[in-house]
Amino acid sequence: MMIETNSPEETFELGVRIGEKALPGQVYTLNGDLGVGKTVFTQGVAKGLGILEPVNSPTFTIIQEYEGGRLPFYHFDVYRIGDIEEMEEIGYDDYFFGQGICLIEWAELIEEILPESVISITIEKDPEKGFDYRRITIQGLKPEEAD
Ligand code: ADP
Ligand code: MG
Repeated sequence: MMIETNSPEETFELGVRIGEKALPGQVYTLNGDLGVGKTVFTQGVAKGLGILEPVNSPTFTIIQEYEGGRLPFYHFDVYRIGDIEEMEEIGYDDYFFGQGICLIEWAELIEEILPESVISITIEKDPEKGFDYRRITIQGLKPEEAD
């Protein structure tokens, strides 16, 4: 599935719709360059899950947990990860194989430990289509979750 957005608000709203339909145990991977909108999208997902706390990219921690929504929400940003060992240290498998929702910014950096079945989201810019244009590709959603 491919969606085009032309503002941060639209990307946020797409995240809200995904968050509203998210199912226990799902792992969402989020890839795309710095500043492309991964955190904006994530903030939408959190809102869709009913989380009222502000969500920002954790700078000095790999994971931030939010318990106040419809399902536990585990927001990973692995941009600064040095070694996969750091994921072992936080006990990542309890999150990846638990009953909450995992969303991983920069998931491509930890490819080797990702579960087999993830919902992958890639956000890209296209300079020819303007500053605020984003192409968002989502793979792995079931048809009933995709509309
Ligand atoms: P990332 O987490 O991928 O590094 P952020 O979500 O922190 O990126 O920042 C994205 C930036 O791009 C924000 O400043 C946002 O306002 C801007 N932006 C412009 N157009 C869009 C769009 N269509 N979707 C998402 N963000 C956009
Ligand atoms: Mg970010």
